Amino acid sequence: MDFEATNSPAIIAYLENKKELLKAVVSSKGVIYYDKTTSGDVVAKQVLAELRKLVKLEFGVCAEDGLNPLQIEQLIITEASIGSANANSDKQTDSERITDHIINKAIEMRASDLFIDTRQGKARLSFKVFGRTFEDVDGIANKELAEKIIRSMWMKGDSNWDPSGPCDCSFSVGEGTKNMVRVRGNSIKEEGRGNAIAARLRNPFEVLPLDEAGYLPAQLEDIRIMAEASGGLIVFAGPTDSGKSTSLTSLVSLLPDDLRKIEIADPPEVFLDHCTHVTIERNVEGSYLGLDKILGAIVRQNPDVLVLGEIRDRMSAAAAMGMAQQGKRVFTSLHANGCAGVPPRLIDLGIGANLLGFKEFFAGCVSQNLVAKLCPHCSMTAEEYQDKDSARRYQKLFDSHAIRFTRPGGCSKCIKGVKGQTLVAQVYPLVKDSGRAYELIRKALFSDLAVYMAKEHGVTDKHCSAALRIVDGQLDPVEVAKRIGFFPDRTYSGKRLESVA
Ligand SMILES: [Zn+2]
Repeated sequence: MDFEATNSPAIIAYLENKKELLKAVVSSKGVIYYDKTTSGDVVAKQVLAELRKLVKLEFGVCAEDGLNPLQIEQLIITEASIGSANANSDKQTDSERITDHIINKAIEMRASDLFIDTRQGKARLSFKVFGRTFEDVDGIANKELAEKIIRSMWMKGDSNWDPSGPCDCSFSVGEGTKNMVRVRGNSIKEEGRGNAIAARLRNPFEVLPLDEAGYLPAQLEDIRIMAEASGGLIVFAGPTDSGKSTSLTSLVSLLPDDLRKIEIADPPEVFLDHCTHVTIERNVEGSYLGLDKILGAIVRQNPDVLVLGEIRDRMSAAAAMGMAQQGKRVFTSLHANGCAGVPPRLIDLGIGANLLGFKEFFAGCVSQNLVAKLCPHCSMTAEEYQDKDSARRYQKLFDSHAIRFTRPGGCSKCIKGVKGQTLVAQVYPLVKDSGRAYELIRKALFSDLAVYMAKEHGVTDKHCSAALRIVDGQLDPVEVAKRIGFFPDRTYSGKRLESVA
């Protein structure tokens, strides 16, 4: 937006006088730009009406445009940078205000991440909400403003932003309240173009109850049985952003207070009253730094339950197994595909199959992905959906006419057609087994294990768990397939699945 502020002394004085009541600027052509979010306010309305009269008096005409607060801030900054060379302190305050506005907007939208990318004079602001990233429509006008915002973010964490290399910042918003949000920012340099900023937002006190996470009732029951086993490894597997650490926290919060629990994570994201949280750092390869030292201390702390944020390498795998061998319950996460992929991955990481194949050491595993939940107010029927072939295929595949799809723009009650996220999961409650499942692990017969778990324990795979909620229109099959892969042609009755392999 090209903007030049009016030099009318009467208007400048009036705006200065009323700046606490109405955020507005007037251009050299007599256009009033005002913060439209204040338009419901009676006093702001009065101020605007008077401003209108004044502008009409000065210019003979009066055009006006309601803008959002961010755009108004940008105009005020443009005005300040043109109007005065020594307005540095004021400009700082303005960029701080914009930073607060952006962070609050992210929190209001329940964004998990906020991104700012600067590229050769331009800047781009985007949010990740419910697993999907989209650009903010208000945007940030230019690279200069974006850099001021980034600097002020880093200053919130009492550090200086260094655009020349990787650097981190962390700070809290709303400290002391239950709505507190911890922000962890990371900046990297893109050679020749600019910088990429990613900031993660988490409420450190928010624990999602396990029964609201999206597991099927039978899966919940199996997870509870695994968690109540007196010892052994429980592994949550899935890609990044599949809710693994949220599930670990929910599970720990379910355990009775009389069990001593210690979590090691980089860094812990949620803090529980009855759990000790230890922060561990990682080196550039992603391995934990000083894990052996921390483990030595933890053995002396004698916990009943150890939560190891993630098994990342042979050393953390050995640590998890070592604690399990001491009869502890060890909850951890791992990058692996499907439950049947967990034992071979652990064996790859140096845990012997002969050890893993025993109930005392391996209680079971969960494989999961997060998928978007459809907004019930605006989801589309198969008839409305633009891709008719795909709509027909899914109707036939799931034998349902109640299937719904995402409305691209969404409605006022959702974000782009999505209203939250839910898990689709597969659970192997190995600890319930009489021994055959462990025998298959010891013999490294993992596809036999998959077939056996489906037959003997009625284990459903992720596609089947999702199908149960696609048939009644809660999940969009197209979106689900993007996360867990193509739905092959087979029966999705939602009942017991006979074949998983
Ligand atoms: Zn909607």
